[in-house]
Amino acid sequence: MPDSAPSASETKSAPPATPMMAQYWEIKRAYPDALLFYRMGDFYELFFEDAKVAAADLDITLTKRGQHAGEEVAMCGVPVHAAEAYLARLIRQGHKVAICEQLEDPAQAKKRGSKSVVKRDVVRLVTPGTLTEDELLDARRHNYLAALTDAGSELGLAWLDVSTGDFLAEAVTPGNLGAALARIAPGELLLPERLLQRADLFELLGDWKAALTPLPSARFDSENARRRLQAVFEVEALDAFGAFERAELAAAGALLDYVELTQKGKLPRLTPLRRQARGTVMEIDPATRRNLELTESLTGGRKGTLLNVLDRTVTGAGARLLAQRLSAPLTDEGEIAARLDAVAWLVERADLREGLRNRLRQAPDMERALSRLSLGRGGPRDLAAIRDGLRQAAGLQGDLLGLSEDPPPAALTRSAEALGQQEGLIDRLSRALAPELPMLTRDGGFVAAGYAPHLDELKQLRDESRRLIAGLQAKYAAATGIGSLKVKHNNVLGYFLEVSATNAAKMPQDPAAGFVHRQTLASAVRYSTTELGELEQKILQAADRALAVELEIFAQLVEEVLQRADPVAAVARALAELDVAAGLAQLAAEARWTRPQVEDSTIFVVEDGRHPVVEAALAANEGARFVANDCDLSKAQQLWLVTGPNMAGKSTFLRQNALIAVLAQMGSFVPAARAKIGTVDRLFSRVGAADDLARGRSTFMVEMVETAAILNQATARSLVILDEIGRGTATFDGLSIAWACVEHLHEVNRCRGLFATHYHELTHLAGKLERLSCYAMRVKEWQGEVVFLHEVAPGAADRSYGIHVARLAGLPPAAVTRAEEVLGLLEQGEQAGALTRLADDLPLFAAVPRSDRAVPQPQESLSDTELRTINPDELTPKQALELLYRLRTLVED
Ligand code: ATP
Repeated sequence: MPDSAPSASETKSAPPATPMMAQYWEIKRAYPDALLFYRMGDFYELFFEDAKVAAADLDITLTKRGQHAGEEVAMCGVPVHAAEAYLARLIRQGHKVAICEQLEDPAQAKKRGSKSVVKRDVVRLVTPGTLTEDELLDARRHNYLAALTDAGSELGLAWLDVSTGDFLAEAVTPGNLGAALARIAPGELLLPERLLQRADLFELLGDWKAALTPLPSARFDSENARRRLQAVFEVEALDAFGAFERAELAAAGALLDYVELTQKGKLPRLTPLRRQARGTVMEIDPATRRNLELTESLTGGRKGTLLNVLDRTVTGAGARLLAQRLSAPLTDEGEIAARLDAVAWLVERADLREGLRNRLRQAPDMERALSRLSLGRGGPRDLAAIRDGLRQAAGLQGDLLGLSEDPPPAALTRSAEALGQQEGLIDRLSRALAPELPMLTRDGGFVAAGYAPHLDELKQLRDESRRLIAGLQAKYAAATGIGSLKVKHNNVLGYFLEVSATNAAKMPQDPAAGFVHRQTLASAVRYSTTELGELEQKILQAADRALAVELEIFAQLVEEVLQRADPVAAVARALAELDVAAGLAQLAAEARWTRPQVEDSTIFVVEDGRHPVVEAALAANEGARFVANDCDLSKAQQLWLVTGPNMAGKSTFLRQNALIAVLAQMGSFVPAARAKIGTVDRLFSRVGAADDLARGRSTFMVEMVETAAILNQATARSLVILDEIGRGTATFDGLSIAWACVEHLHEVNRCRGLFATHYHELTHLAGKLERLSCYAMRVKEWQGEVVFLHEVAPGAADRSYGIHVARLAGLPPAAVTRAEEVLGLLEQGEQAGALTRLADDLPLFAAVPRSDRAVPQPQESLSDTELRTINPDELTPKQALELLYRLRTLVED
């Protein structure tokens, strides 16, 4: 956050130059960390430091407006009608923006005296975590505002989606904080200032350091929070919602506070606070998520991720729920089975599924519309979204519950039951809303004809007057004999009649004729008449009154929707659930995925498993076929050691099994012929020596930190995938570390695991560790070429084929030949001796002309160095004597 606060000299000593500037500073002082959008007419203006920051970040012109404290005032502005686009850019760049509006008509201010300033105040603080506008949000992603705090030794995390009202809390530990944050991926993270001092915790905040909003520690008081939550949810005690720890409550309370602060006292509709109980979701730490590219690819973005392949949803709410489920796979096999039942039922009913998806396609985003309405920020189109969503929901309910012969499974029935019973509201909204709706309520014209007779009368009066005005054109043309005379309207003159400059002479000059001259332009002359003025007044009055009536109707409709907010939100949620189930079923049917069997055990059997993303990429690129592979990590062979050449498909194989576990536990079918998965409590995936320069740590350090986390945390229910661990250091170091890791995983963690390695020596461990099995990627050598079969088969690879890959990559032939020679010698086994012989030979260097070789310089002795650095003139007799002694020792050494 740039420092956009006024400088000390600006705020304290300098007297404000004008009353407006005084008002500006008073408001600005309350929002030192935000850019202040100060409303002036049709623009939001920014001043001083704010203006400099915004002009640079928005790439707009920086201008000046008078002087303040002897210095020119920097200024820039954005037009109100286009403000959202600018806001979006500023928020994306990490700024907060305080929106300061004019709270009265400038005419009202004038009445208080000519020098009075229009009343203004901030109506909303826009921050990355508190957005509600569709233009500022990604329709297919949740945008959570989270808070983290401590209470005694506890850590609590709470998160809230202001745009949907989702509200949750969880007790966390330093060990799983990273995983929890990665699962939630908050847009903004609040935390008490005192936590910033805890270096251990600060490190754990990882990628979310950029999203931090520190707040005074007093805002995180658990007792205040408890009272606030009880008041908001209108309950005597929170026990009914779950047994929350103090830190969770404190975090949840701080969220409520912050939302009220940013929304200027308003709270959106919230779901009752739910507790994410420990152990209910598969824990996946940030490095594993990154590695498996679940929702974001290694290069950032959605392309190449599992989510991208998985997402066949047709609504924003469905897409958000799918992403949420993928981020938090379950551990309870009963809940997983319920989700899978829903998918399986829809897989088998292609026609019904297509029908459901067609209806869903027409269901707008009710969740976000509802939240905007509850914050007083909704418009007529939000009401229409509720109407259309409810209407589609009622249709869907009929489709699903009408099947008495073939009832859907429990999860779908539950969703279907939530879909109906809103006929009254649908009817009301359908009757009330006009077919074409304006964006903004204040534009009016959104109430349907026939809905409010009183309103229709006013509109008739307005339209009647307009017709009369149109009639006047003919009347005046006849009276003046000027056929081309026109009646026109603009904001300055109101209604007027216009004739061309050449016809102006024909206009009756007699005042009794009633034509009052108003304006002469180069090519036209304009007049007004009393009759026109009176009709205009009538139009204006009728329009004003009609708008007032429309606004009243709007408020009533909003009220009616909000009274049913809970059931409407339940409908929205049910629609999202149906969309997710139907989308997963669609994919399963299209891509031949099968239902996994998930059970409470440590079994892991996958037959003919595929990597969904690599398979899709192969099919899209060259229509190539993906080779399916089995994986069985059941008791007797819990740990697989996978060897094989580069490019043979080891990483793909490892990852596909991790992804199959994630998919199964989120309640999706999986890309395999058959899969039986014992629920995984924690999933770990690491790739050796992955670059982490952005985080400023050496790659090997990163590798070791991550490996340490696995060895410290993996349990017998975990699934661990290690790809080329130990690669980032010298061969023997790396081999030793990899060796020790395999032993530790086998003996201490006793988890299921896949360990891919180049160190063939590790295969010796199979004789010693009874649950370790060796597998290798098969290759075929054919006419001197290596063919990768991408098949996993029992046994160990005998060679790495690294040089083969190097040749494929275009290493110069001389270097390839030389590498083959070196390899040949090394493989003779007597490594040290072989290397010495190689170095003695120096055949490659021998080819370099002698003049190019570095000429070794005679080395300077320590005594010479010492002598060269002294200045005899500066030495005292005593120092000179000491120097003599020192030189003597150096020579003796
Ligand atoms: P390295 O050790 O160099 O990282 P690797 O053995 O881990 O290599 P992968 O990165 O898994 O190899 O795979 C290399 C490429 O081979 C993939 O990008 C993909 O195009 C192809 N491939 C991998 N597995 C399969 C498969 N089962 N069927 C078809 N093609 C595959």
